[in-house]
Amino acid sequence: MLAVVKEHPGPGLSYDAELPVPSPAAGEALLKPLLVGICGTDLHIESWAEPYRDLEAYLPTVLGHEVLAEVVEGERSSAGERCVALSVYGCGRCELCRSGRSQLCPDARKESLGMARDGGLAELMTLPEDRLLAVPQTVPDEVAALCEPFATAVRAVRTAKGGKPTRIAVLGPGAIGLMVALVAARLNPERLVVVGTESDGDRLNLAEDLGLRTVVSGTDGTDALSDSLGGPADVIFEASGSVRAFEEGLQALGPGGELVVVGMHGEPLAVPSGGFVRRELRLSGSYAAGRRDWEEAIRLVQSEEVDLRPLAGSVFGLDEARSAFRATEAGVTGRTLVRCAS
Ligand SMILES: [Zn+2]
Ligand SMILES: [Zn+2]
Repeated sequence: MLAVVKEHPGPGLSYDAELPVPSPAAGEALLKPLLVGICGTDLHIESWAEPYRDLEAYLPTVLGHEVLAEVVEGERSSAGERCVALSVYGCGRCELCRSGRSQLCPDARKESLGMARDGGLAELMTLPEDRLLAVPQTVPDEVAALCEPFATAVRAVRTAKGGKPTRIAVLGPGAIGLMVALVAARLNPERLVVVGTESDGDRLNLAEDLGLRTVVSGTDGTDALSDSLGGPADVIFEASGSVRAFEEGLQALGPGGELVVVGMHGEPLAVPSGGFVRRELRLSGSYAAGRRDWEEAIRLVQSEEVDLRPLAGSVFGLDEARSAFRATEAGVTGRTLVRCAS
């Protein structure tokens, strides 16, 4: 079968590898991936960015961690059922797993989908049935395929520890940033802005179409942000992956404010000690999502409390995976999707 495979450490990817059809182990289902989202993580793995080099131990691996699939055969799930797959999953037994935070389990890395364990950019895949969540029939494919980043957004907003925030900023108008903004807007802050750069024109337009207020950061980014919020931010979500945005975010926080870092930066992040301590800032990481976040994500799309349809981007065939990666790299608007099977 055709698959997109990270074969060796170092930059590069095999977009048209031929692999044997996988056979499910006990407790696993055989699945036909329908739509798979491509994101910055896939690009980082392709370019072999530092935070992903530990994956060498698991290569070769089929990429694709944002998976909507259809069950071909399973013990508990029935053929034809559509499901999404928990991208990060733990041992299922430890305290973290049992409290719904399996993404923090010590075993999570070696179970990470499309990284350590074969993902969905293939004609077929296998997964433990425990990792699958059924998608309600009313949710269209393109929306269901966005559940992985959306669960990450739900998680990020849940991570913010403060009380009810008055002023919220989201740095980075990519798919995750916009999803975080849509979830954070449900906290009913007085002000919420999405911050982009001058090269984010189309993405900022999409944000405005979604009813979100936007601001373009420049050399005077902090002032522009504070002005548009009507004061310093209580909570800032850093979803741009830019080290500079991280630094600007710390500066733009008010006393006691919190910066929630969603996703990875390719370089180390530095915190200026003086201002950080004197203003009692908080810095939190938010990683992927636990089962509880996934369930909330599915509930929000099923009830249409959040409409993700405008966030689905171009759809490529599995044999066009290379183009899908290059489109993602070019910073297209909306999540790029690969249709692996119909
Ligand atoms: Zn992703
Ligand atoms: Zn565990």
